[in-house]
Amino acid sequence: MNPPSGEFEFIESLRKRVSASPYVTLGIGDDAAILTANPPQTLVTTDMLMEGTHFAIPPASPRQVGHKALAVNLSDIAAMGGCPTTAFVSVALSRKYPESFREELFQGIQGLADRFGVALAGGDTNSWNGPFVISVTLLGTPVKSPVLRSGARPGDWICVTGSFGGSLAGRHLDFIPRVAEALELQRRVTLHAMQDVSDGLAADLYHILEESGVGCRLDAQAIPIAEAARLSRDSRTPLEHALGDGEDFELLFTLSPEEGQRLLRTPPFETPIHKIGEITEDRTAWLVQSNGTPIPLPRLGWVHAL
Ligand code: ADP
Ligand code: MG
Repeated sequence: MNPPSGEFEFIESLRKRVSASPYVTLGIGDDAAILTANPPQTLVTTDMLMEGTHFAIPPASPRQVGHKALAVNLSDIAAMGGCPTTAFVSVALSRKYPESFREELFQGIQGLADRFGVALAGGDTNSWNGPFVISVTLLGTPVKSPVLRSGARPGDWICVTGSFGGSLAGRHLDFIPRVAEALELQRRVTLHAMQDVSDGLAADLYHILEESGVGCRLDAQAIPIAEAARLSRDSRTPLEHALGDGEDFELLFTLSPEEGQRLLRTPPFETPIHKIGEITEDRTAWLVQSNGTPIPLPRLGWVHAL
């Protein structure tokens, strides 16, 4: 691609701002980066955000979009129980925005990268007349064994961090991914399965159930509902928002009842942890309503359509 004048200066300025990392031998500036591969396994995730589909500018600011583009990837590495290390950022800048756009965008990325010790090690910068698009690839190091969606076992407790619903009112742009919490959970307990909630609590729980070949009994009363879900003025109940809105970027995980009890007795961090149900051998997913009656868990949440 032919970058407009100023792109090289921009990349040069990025290069100067990036701090050194033990994981990066050679970062921004050459044809490819060189990374040091210490552990035998590397976690790799990538996520693309597109103006008009995932956000609009405004209400989102360029800084918020930069923050979110890295945050969604951090959330995925956290959900594997890993430690994020190195990011690659590719952008299709839109010529309709001034140069200050990319500056603010990268401030949003850099702020979050610094918070979690992630090095920006490369990327690609293009401009066009279309909408703004950003794709981040993030590498990470597993701490203990990576925690997969397929590890849930009958009898496991189903737990979550934080609360659910109403994220699109604003939280989806500013959330701090649960990286520190995931690492602390890995240190404290043996997790059987984990994922982050992006599509919706119910939809994402179904992913764990299907990958693990199990079912569940979810306790409607135990699901922590975010304030924003209660404030919503549409026809859906707060519980429906919590189960289906998505973009909560909380951790959803399962562990043995003994480990679960230990965890809830001495919570390892300020972010609340709630037990919301149990894994069953019978493969159906039940939602136990507040009156005690079980109904099939509605498959609420984002379903990707192509
Ligand atoms: P090439 O033409 O060889 O692909 P580029 O001009 O695309 O080189 O990039 C030069 C250097 O700047 C590379 O190291 C690349 O990884 C880095 N880079 C380009 N754009 C970005 C970006 N948006 N974020 C981080 N690094 C970038
Ligand atoms: Mg290139």
